[in-house]
Amino acid sequence: MSTPPSGPSGLLGDLQEVVGPAHLLTGEDLLASYTTDWTGRYSGTALAVLRPVDAAEVAGVLEVAARHGAAVVPQGGNTGLVGGSVPRARLAGGRPQLVLSTRRLTGGLELDRSSRLLEAGAGTTLAEAARAARHAGLHPGIDLAARESATLGGMVATNAGGLQAVRYGPMRARLAGVEAVLADGTVAARLSGLAKDSVGWDLGALLSGSEGTLAVVTRVALRLEATPVHRVAALVALDEVSSAVELVTGPLRRLASLEAAELTLEAGMSLVCETAGLAPPPGAGGAGAWLTVEAAADDDPTDELARALADPRVLETAVAGDAAGRGRLWAYRERHTEAVSRLGIPHKLDVSVRPGRLAALLARLPDEVEKRAPGARIVVFGHLAEGNLHVNVLGPPLEDDAADDAVLRLVLELGGSISAEHGVGVAKTPWLRLARSAAELEVMRRVRAALDPGGVLNPGVLEPT
Ligand SMILES: Cc1cc2nc3c(=O)[nH]c(=O)nc-3n(C[C@H](O)[C@H](O)[C@H](O)COP(=O)(O)OP(=O)(O)OC[C@H]3O[C@@H](n4cnc5c(N)ncnc54)[C@H](O)[C@@H]3O)c2cc1C
Repeated sequence: MSTPPSGPSGLLGDLQEVVGPAHLLTGEDLLASYTTDWTGRYSGTALAVLRPVDAAEVAGVLEVAARHGAAVVPQGGNTGLVGGSVPRARLAGGRPQLVLSTRRLTGGLELDRSSRLLEAGAGTTLAEAARAARHAGLHPGIDLAARESATLGGMVATNAGGLQAVRYGPMRARLAGVEAVLADGTVAARLSGLAKDSVGWDLGALLSGSEGTLAVVTRVALRLEATPVHRVAALVALDEVSSAVELVTGPLRRLASLEAAELTLEAGMSLVCETAGLAPPPGAGGAGAWLTVEAAADDDPTDELARALADPRVLETAVAGDAAGRGRLWAYRERHTEAVSRLGIPHKLDVSVRPGRLAALLARLPDEVEKRAPGARIVVFGHLAEGNLHVNVLGPPLEDDAADDAVLRLVLELGGSISAEHGVGVAKTPWLRLARSAAELEVMRRVRAALDPGGVLNPGVLEPT
């Protein structure tokens, strides 16, 4: 699998001693899938990819990297959308860069049914964790379309949100503990799984959203939820986007069974139908917006969902209670990311505002983008109940960030966040100073310097430029 050690004075040789020759990868072909991100927008060169199998090997890799002055990019499933999971040419300051892949950190999956907890290696994918939980009548309370590749460690590192955050919160809220390795090789773990524990700082909370800059997460304890007996999905066609916002912030938000409320618009719907060969959705031709809604409860929630959707602004609704039918309805929403990528590499902006300001954001977005990037194509979709929109801008060259700037400044003007759930990575660093005060950035800098004084972990990520 790997070529013999070479390169800067003994670095590869020392790394090979830690992970073994089969798990030190070098050479362009072997490294290709680790050095370019899912979007295709971000890539760089790595001296090697390391595939440690446990926390001790992770500690060994970090210790060797620090000793040889190398930078380390932690990588899980490489489904991140902000360029934080791959090496970057300029940002490591000329140091050799290593990718530390966590995909072999999958050992020791444990399920505690009575405490509703799952503990697993950080390289375990969300889908694997969900399958293990399902056997016990439980589920992780977090779901995203990249579930087959996204890892638990990557989801902690980005504080992933996803489709069910409206009910169960983002990854930070799902965490019951972590084990992590600091840049100097210290292994810190708090995996007690306790519902209440106030002894000092919460390691998991500190690492949620840290994007591989503070430590490498090696093990994750997740809170699980009981799987509801009944589940129903609806694809709802509405006259216009403001109706979708009002429905979600009004009657749908009051449903205790609401598990997802996702927005799609005409531009995205036609694109998905065209590229994925899907039949026209309900309301095609007349609708201005669609909601994909899912409700789940032990008592069948179909009637209460129907009551919440009994609104003159609803043009047509398709409902499904069985898994295959729900999958067909969800395809219209879930295939958006893939459909957009087929048009080229988009400017991807994952933003949030308070739900009450969504209508203003959606109304002003097209004009603000048009002013700065005339003729650009915009595809918007997202997790409407949390005020989280994914704004994809196609057309402007990737190095031209005028459209990004227009969208992010508008969001900030409305009191929103420049990253709702994907993180900052390298994609959003130019706007960090607008999004956080100098004092907040100083706190981040000091915490990072304390945990990683040599700047080994993910240089350039989550750092203001
Ligand atoms: C089709 C598609 C749909 C998506 N939908 C959603 C969605 O609905 N909601 C959402 O929030 N995201 C979504 N994403 C983005 C992505 O799946 C998440 O950001 C996910 O959490 C990344 O996990 P990963 O294992 O792929 O991490 P990677 O992409 O490998 O890494 C992401 C970041 O985490 C760091 N990292 C990874 N593993 C570790 C670790 N063990 N320790 C420390 N740092 C680590 C990396 O350095 C990088 O900065 C989607 C992506 C795709 C492609």
